[in-house]
Amino acid sequence: MSEFSNEYPTHDPGWVQEMHANHYLQSWSKQGRKPPVITGAEGSWFWDSTGKRYLDFQSQLVNANLGHQHPKIVQAIKDQADKLCYIGPAMGSDVRSELAALMTEITPEPITSTFFTTGGSAANELAIRLARHYTGRSKIIARYRSYHGATGGTLSLTGDPRRHLTRGDMPGVVRMLDPYCYRCPMGHTDSANCPVSQGGPHLEELLMYENPQTVAAVILEPIVGTNGILVPPDGYLQSIRETCDRHGILLIFDEVMAGFGRTGKWFACDHWDVAPDILSSAKGINSGYVPLGTMSVSKTLADWLKDYPLPGGLTYAGHPLACASGVAAIRAMQEEGTLAKATASGEYLRSELAKLADKHPCIGDIRGKGMFNAIELVKNRDTREMLVPFAAKEDAAAPMSEMMKFAMNEGLYLSFFSNCIRLTPPLNISREDLDLGLEILDRTLEIADEHY
Ligand code: PLP
Repeated sequence: MSEFSNEYPTHDPGWVQEMHANHYLQSWSKQGRKPPVITGAEGSWFWDSTGKRYLDFQSQLVNANLGHQHPKIVQAIKDQADKLCYIGPAMGSDVRSELAALMTEITPEPITSTFFTTGGSAANELAIRLARHYTGRSKIIARYRSYHGATGGTLSLTGDPRRHLTRGDMPGVVRMLDPYCYRCPMGHTDSANCPVSQGGPHLEELLMYENPQTVAAVILEPIVGTNGILVPPDGYLQSIRETCDRHGILLIFDEVMAGFGRTGKWFACDHWDVAPDILSSAKGINSGYVPLGTMSVSKTLADWLKDYPLPGGLTYAGHPLACASGVAAIRAMQEEGTLAKATASGEYLRSELAKLADKHPCIGDIRGKGMFNAIELVKNRDTREMLVPFAAKEDAAAPMSEMMKFAMNEGLYLSFFSNCIRLTPPLNISREDLDLGLEILDRTLEIADEHY
């Protein structure tokens, strides 16, 4: 390469790992790791500098809903980059307006208008800010088994133990229990008799202590993602909606992981025809090719905002490259029948998992909708003793990390949380690749069986 060359150097993979280990700070995982150096990807696959290929059974961070390098999204980003890379959020831009119109088309009916953000955490931060601004109240009710982001406010909303790491949590967060029927927090076996699984009765009791006049919003993932794919019983979301309405409390649905066809519908809440006042999304909106998130609001809120705008904004809100990729991804999903594909592949996946459960006693529960699925692993099916304790680390979590390593070695990229394996492949994965992943999973589960 000459001094004036504008070609990028192709670095030696060893150098890349060295710099990664010593100079790249990554949240969550331990510093100093030398991960595989990924050099390319296509469809449901990615590969590293040694030529090893990995089948992406988690769609990266459950965002590559259309797989890797979808040609229509890549082309839209290139075309937009040629035309206009950046223009401030207050200016008109064709792709921004087009994406706002598309969001209105695919979100549940009362939702009419959208703010754009740089991801899911920023969308949820904005949602809390708006809920407090609109209601003049400060408390936010969030659930334990939840993940809402990694910024100050959203990590405080997050219920799982990651929030322990935040020091100085955002004040005003009240915690609610979850409709986790496989391990009912109230010990019920029949969700019809459980106030937590019904939703409204549990929320109503909390409000009796908290004073509803102080509560701005309830935020929840309609189907919980990171914390183990928890699908609520029928009637749950409706009951929460009705309770919120009785007390003038806003309902925020965090669809960051479950949205954009992941569950076989545009949004998880569509399975029960329950709409929120505020809907946050990100990830699958553009398969993660450019950072993008949204906070969409009902017509009532949109009209109110005309007189009382939300102060402050994001430099990169409605970034043209992100909006162009969002438009291309949503249109591709419409043209390619992606929602129907996700529904059919999800049904097939769960029926194959049921066959694996006949063979592997360690599978305690199989749950999910569309391509948003998990298996929960146990030491004993009758007692439901967990394979590893909740949020276990290091030695106690060894069987899970052993399985992760085994699968990765076999070329299957799987996602683990506590004693669950999440199965969230791209929505358009081929049947052949789905079968290949299941075959490697079958062998991986033998490790868990040894602990049964
Ligand atoms: N909300 C949910 C439900 C999520 O799953 C995530 C990320 O995994 C977030 C919010 C945070 O989104 P981001 O990482 O884009 O900030």
